Amino acid sequence: MNNQRLETVCRAGKAEKGSIKGVIPASTESFGKLVFNRKVMERMLPKDVFKNIQLAILGKEPLDLAHADTIALAMKEWAMEHGASHYTHWFQPLTGASAEKHDAFINWLTLSDQLIDHFGGKELIQGEPDASSFPSGGLRSTYEARGYTGWDPSSPPFLWKGGDGYTLCIPSVFFSWHGQALDWKIPLLRSDQLVNLAVKRLLNITGIKVDHVFSTLGLEQEYFVIERSFRNLRPDLLILGKTVIGAPPPKGQEMQDHYFGSVKDRILSFMRDFEERALELGIPVKTRHNEVAPAQHEVAPIYERTTLAIDHNLILMELMRQAAHDGDLSLLLHEKPFAGLNGSGKHSNWSLQTSEGLNLLDPSEVEENNLHFLILLVAILHGIHRHHKLLRASIGSASNDDRLGGHEAPPAIISVYLGQELEALLDGIEKGDVESPKKGAQTYDLGLNVIPPLKKDQTDRNRTSPFAFTGNKFEYRAVGSSQNPSLPMTVLNAVVAESLGEILDQLEPKAAKAKSSDELINVTKETLKPFIKASHPIRFSGDNYSQEWQQEAKNRGLEQIANSVEAFSALIDESTFALFEKILTPDELQSRYEVALEHYINQIDVESKLLIELFKTNALPVAIRCQKERAESILAYQKLYMGKGRDLTHQLDKLTQLSELIESAILDIDFLESVRNQALNLPLHERAMQFSTRVRTQCLKSRHSIDQLEALVDDALWTLPKYRELLWLV
Ligand code: ADP
Ligand code: MG
Repeated sequence: MNNQRLETVCRAGKAEKGSIKGVIPASTESFGKLVFNRKVMERMLPKDVFKNIQLAILGKEPLDLAHADTIALAMKEWAMEHGASHYTHWFQPLTGASAEKHDAFINWLTLSDQLIDHFGGKELIQGEPDASSFPSGGLRSTYEARGYTGWDPSSPPFLWKGGDGYTLCIPSVFFSWHGQALDWKIPLLRSDQLVNLAVKRLLNITGIKVDHVFSTLGLEQEYFVIERSFRNLRPDLLILGKTVIGAPPPKGQEMQDHYFGSVKDRILSFMRDFEERALELGIPVKTRHNEVAPAQHEVAPIYERTTLAIDHNLILMELMRQAAHDGDLSLLLHEKPFAGLNGSGKHSNWSLQTSEGLNLLDPSEVEENNLHFLILLVAILHGIHRHHKLLRASIGSASNDDRLGGHEAPPAIISVYLGQELEALLDGIEKGDVESPKKGAQTYDLGLNVIPPLKKDQTDRNRTSPFAFTGNKFEYRAVGSSQNPSLPMTVLNAVVAESLGEILDQLEPKAAKAKSSDELINVTKETLKPFIKASHPIRFSGDNYSQEWQQEAKNRGLEQIANSVEAFSALIDESTFALFEKILTPDELQSRYEVALEHYINQIDVESKLLIELFKTNALPVAIRCQKERAESILAYQKLYMGKGRDLTHQLDKLTQLSELIESAILDIDFLESVRNQALNLPLHERAMQFSTRVRTQCLKSRHSIDQLEALVDDALWTLPKYRELLWLV
């Protein structure tokens, strides 16, 4: 083993357990300690202000601007009590990460030359960071710098610990001087409003009284953690969070002994560390376990309102990064850090809930009146079928393309798994079965109590499906681990609102005439029939990983889009413009399309540059040294035994093999450089196409040659930590 690697291996073996200090605090007690939450507001705000802000949080009443100063003062006092010196509007530009710009809680009174504590309503409500350097996809030029952040009361302010102090973070939206949305949050909030309106229309028919409806989201975050000192020796992991080369280890995940296996002490300390920090920030982390690949794990908080769940996910990813760092580990959120092993997703469990706490996708919750479930189900299927390409686009990225379709990741074909019972129910309606299926025998009674309790264990799991019904929610499994899930959730809300609207346009007049619940059920069934029929192709209960499904999907008219760049065109399709009418303008969609392409290109470009550099400055010199040593050894041997008939054929063969591999790796890398150079000057769309096809393919090909070299070259010479060290030495 190479000296540098050897030292690192020894150091890794001696690593501290983690950074847990002393007794584990009671999690429920510390929950939300760093959040300006309802409890704090109730304590610190006058009654009328408290009431107004609570209604504003639910989106039911605008915030009375006259209260802004009072709220800001309370927020400042609370933050300063905790030792905060600065505040920031915390927002989500199109980079995919969160952004912040800190200001101190001070003001300078020029006349009296005094520095005073200050944070007013004006500062709370609106900020104006220079926005020129964020991606805008052509919405703004660099000289049009004005961007505004606006406080989003639906997500509570929180204190972020960094350096030695705290910063008050105020979750915000981000828009341009022209009022265009420059973030992922504005469209998400708008889509939630649309769902609210559409579902309330529905519940009006079925007779369930609600105040408002919102979508809920529970995110299962998968990730890898590895020893930091190894990460530091791998420029690809350091810069990209993925390996661009690396020969397969002798043992990967084939023994299936990591999934749900006992968690190593050091990892457990790391988990507890970030969970503790998360609880203080009001993130209800609940589940943790080992995942399928070695060094891969998962964390899942309890579900929340979608917008809050996403804010919390962004915070959680950052907390995990910090906790890993503190434990001398390194967090990898990339969708595919290691070739040949499972990648990481962010399974997005999505449902619709009323303000009264009713889960509308749980048919067992109001057994006696759950017609809404059936209508929602059909609306979801119909919406997803019509916009399946857009759904694929919404989870698209270069890193997710690495993952989709391989090693237990859903394929790049969007389909929906419902389970036998729901399949039978919909088939029955489509065929026009007059008889309602009997309750009990795995069937449904279509009396006003439309569907009997659908116990979770009645729906089997289909882990191969990208979008699966799991008894009381849908699990969207194609979302990538590093992704901000706002866009897929926006699309989901939007397609449901749109197709529900269409169904209701037809159903409402008929329902108004229905004189009994039986009649209502009958007109509902009649209305739903064509929608069920039209969306039939999107339903698939079989093995999504199989070859047959690829063919069948094609026959059904479902597109398999392995390349996200192809899918992104759905963002600027006429059907999307119509779908997003009240969410984003065509210009704003165009901007997101361009940002997605640029991001894709940049990711592959960095990847290709890294690969070229690693080869030229690392793998190649090492391989040549090895080649030289072997050649010299053969020459010396031949000299020693000159004319004595000793056979060196096999050693010569090995040397030839090594030399040929070096040659072909050089050719591959040269070709990669040339396809990259050719692609660089093309217009945006063609460039993205070239990067996503030729450059990407050539990266893979070159990588393959280099990986073969790694497997041949003297281990004492190879400087980069190998897969076996990265994966197994935590
Ligand atoms: P699994 O068995 O697939 O892991 P869980 O019941 O543990 O499913 O849930 C996984 C995630 O789904 C958790 O974050 C959980 O809180 C979330 N979840 C549960 N119910 C809902 C719901 N009604 N809406 C959204 N997410 C939900
Ligand atoms: Mg799950």
